[in-house]
Amino acid sequence: MKHKKSFFHMRKGFDFAQAVVEAHRCLLCHDAPCSQGCPADTRPAEFIRKLRFKNITGAIRTIKENNVLGGACGVLCPTHRLCEKACSARMVSEGLPEGADRPIQIGKIQRFLVEHSWDIGFRVFEKPAPRTEKVAVVGSGPAGLSCAAELAKDGYKVTVFEARPEPGGALRYGVVSYRFDSKFLKKELTDVKALGVRFQCNSPVDADNGVDRLLAQGFAAVFVAPGLWAAATLVPAGQRIGGVFSSVDYLSALRDGRFEQMIKRIEGKDVAVIGGGSVAMDCVGSAVRLGARDVHLIYRRSFTQMPAEPDERVEAQEAGVHFLLLNQPVGYVTDSRKQVKGVRLVRTRLGKEDASGRRRPVPVKGSEWILPARVIIEAIGNVAPADSPKWYPGVRVDRRLLVEADPKTGATSRPGVFAGGDIVRGPALVVQAVQDGKAAARAIKDYLSNQK
Ligand SMILES: Cc1cc2nc3c(=O)[nH]c(=O)nc-3n(C[C@H](O)[C@H](O)[C@H](O)COP(=O)(O)OP(=O)(O)OC[C@H]3O[C@@H](n4cnc5c(N)ncnc54)[C@H](O)[C@@H]3O)c2cc1C
Ligand code: SF4
Repeated sequence: MKHKKSFFHMRKGFDFAQAVVEAHRCLLCHDAPCSQGCPADTRPAEFIRKLRFKNITGAIRTIKENNVLGGACGVLCPTHRLCEKACSARMVSEGLPEGADRPIQIGKIQRFLVEHSWDIGFRVFEKPAPRTEKVAVVGSGPAGLSCAAELAKDGYKVTVFEARPEPGGALRYGVVSYRFDSKFLKKELTDVKALGVRFQCNSPVDADNGVDRLLAQGFAAVFVAPGLWAAATLVPAGQRIGGVFSSVDYLSALRDGRFEQMIKRIEGKDVAVIGGGSVAMDCVGSAVRLGARDVHLIYRRSFTQMPAEPDERVEAQEAGVHFLLLNQPVGYVTDSRKQVKGVRLVRTRLGKEDASGRRRPVPVKGSEWILPARVIIEAIGNVAPADSPKWYPGVRVDRRLLVEADPKTGATSRPGVFAGGDIVRGPALVVQAVQDGKAAARAIKDYLSNQK
């Protein structure tokens, strides 16, 4: 593998001068549509205005007080459909030639300010005066971290129970490290730890050690945010095919100490990735970097129907990924040792619209063919583990095993148990998980004050 070092490091963000110049492009709108476009209420209009008037620590404070993962969101938010979509500078630019104007790069300014706080050693949070109430948080992804920080700011004693060896959720074991690296995460976690949040890693809350046990141990409320860590698969139940990975396992392996093992698997091989979302894009991009010979992306619909962000799709194409659109996998071809040799595909055409409003892929009869591949990565959806409802008895789940929770408060069907993030929404965004954590923390405080 040629560029191993760069695999583990994110690209540099804005420097001071770039951030200030960008902030000066802001039109200082009175009604600040960008702030309304942020799901987590990170208040971009306020922090950009403060930066513009050289109140740097004030700008940092605005971000961090409203979004404890302001750095992660600055890096990972698909801003073109959130805050930057609403930016008035973008409106001005409509109809003008490309490059004449564009939205303020809010995510990049936000990232700069958070990184700057670490560079200058500016600590937004001090450990608050403690209260007696204990709250348990299940899962240390963005939803759990946001809820924990919000409660800890008010002095609640928060313990985060995490199944894996290190905290961070998909930020630690999902997103590829050249888009979001461990060093950056560590610094953002330090901000959460400064509030006194306790982390108990390697501690799954499961059928044996579930929510009942936490409540019995004296936690007055529980926030459930375990994300979605099981994977949908095309491999028939009970079978194992060598060389077929789920995106969950493949991407985790790149970040949990199995990196060298994965290079050996991928380098020089033909790799096929199934799926059309952002996770599939992380899989194809990383496979190219690990030195795969050819990387095919298989998607049963068309280019414009792909759920992946437009810039991710373009980046994958520029990296040399071959897009096999309008092709649907129907099975795998294996050798005598049950190792994968290829994927059986059938061509599709777009038929009538389905319930989602998108034209449905219809298989074309007699069009079956085989794409040779030694490694297949299935990125066709992260789902809740089959036994997950047993972790939180009495909490209502839907047929996909997603927790049913009030979208405004995270309250579940069981009093004292709240939930948020991907386990409630299905696969979503970091910023939405942050929003859920904040909302649930507010509701938990109300719940606890009513218990007195
Ligand atoms: C590969 C990938 C790329 C992504 N890229 C982006 C992106 O660019 N931008 C963006 O906004 N979003 C992106 N997302 C989505 C985003 O990461 C998720 O929406 C977000 O992380 C959800 O947060 P969460 O806290 O609900 O769950 P998670 O981040 O999944 O965290 C849940 C945590 O709970 C732990 N856990 C699970 N079960 C238990 C248990 N029984 N007991 C204790 N702990 C448990 C898990 O180990 C994990 O640490 C991406 C996701 C993936 C997988
Ligand atoms: S958190 Fe994300 S959506 Fe909100 S202002 Fe920042 S970059 Fe935009």
